[in-house]
Amino acid sequence: MSLFDQILGHKQIKTFFTNALQKERLFSSYIFTGPEGIGKKKTAIAIAAMLNCESPDNAPCGMCRSCLKIQEGTHVDVNLMAAEKDEILAEQAESVLDAIRFAPFEGKARVFIIDNAHQLNPTSGNMLLKTLEEPPSGNYFFLITSKPDSLLPTIRSRCQEVAFSGSGILEALMESPDFDDSYYPWVKSGGGFVEDKSQLKAFTSIRQLAIRLLQEMISPHRDSGLDLEDELSEALGNQGRESARIFFFQIEILLRDILAIIANRDDAIINRDMISDLKKISRRLTPDMVFEIISLVKKGTNGLSYGIRIQHLAPVLLAEGKKVTL
Ligand SMILES: [Zn+2]
Repeated sequence: MSLFDQILGHKQIKTFFTNALQKERLFSSYIFTGPEGIGKKKTAIAIAAMLNCESPDNAPCGMCRSCLKIQEGTHVDVNLMAAEKDEILAEQAESVLDAIRFAPFEGKARVFIIDNAHQLNPTSGNMLLKTLEEPPSGNYFFLITSKPDSLLPTIRSRCQEVAFSGSGILEALMESPDFDDSYYPWVKSGGGFVEDKSQLKAFTSIRQLAIRLLQEMISPHRDSGLDLEDELSEALGNQGRESARIFFFQIEILLRDILAIIANRDDAIINRDMISDLKKISRRLTPDMVFEIISLVKKGTNGLSYGIRIQHLAPVLLAEGKKVTL
């Protein structure tokens, strides 16, 4: 199975790069944009493998020495770079400029993959400008970002942009024998996170907690046994702020589904597998209440950006939401 076959969806992008390489029309600097976890970095790694693969007819074969090393992250010519704290620093840009002065060491092409490229600060970004525009031949850059609007405009204008979306992933998933409706929301909500099925399972538990929080919110009982703190740490694990953001995002998607139910637009429902629970919740809510809760969820999401922990924000959302539904 080639490395491209292991990536869900993105058929056109894979064909595009396969053709570009065969016709020697590959640009040297690309920006991959699209939701988190949708397969941007995986695709960049596969292209790095394609450029260096030892069986060119079947590249990226995933089996040769070069492909294996690239997948393990031990190939000296394939450099994966990410912010050390919240910024990609000048020293990191310096190391790129140092490496690029020499020809690729081990393989045919040297590839730099810069993850969360919007974290390049003005200094490190400016240091790379000239190189991104015209790297020495045999060097390629892939900048990965879910926030292209936060990229320095000077960087953005020097790279070819490739947009990743979830649309092809849904079709790819539907072809798989174990597809079920619980996969649908992840793709349809545009949240990404569908690189592989193990992630889908993890996010299913986040989604289940999201609906439990709404059920608790409308419940007239003071205590229905939802231990938010425990449940949060179980569902979100130690995946940090990003999974907390998805948790809030899922609550918002569920609320939009409830609005669709109230408006008799069942066709617009994203969480199809939860439809009977959603209908029960919707009976207790008016559209105004739903809008009010959505704005509470947005406040919670903002709180995350200020570094407030989900363990503090979720109980507040629950308590405030309860007041709205009284
Ligand atoms: Zn190979």
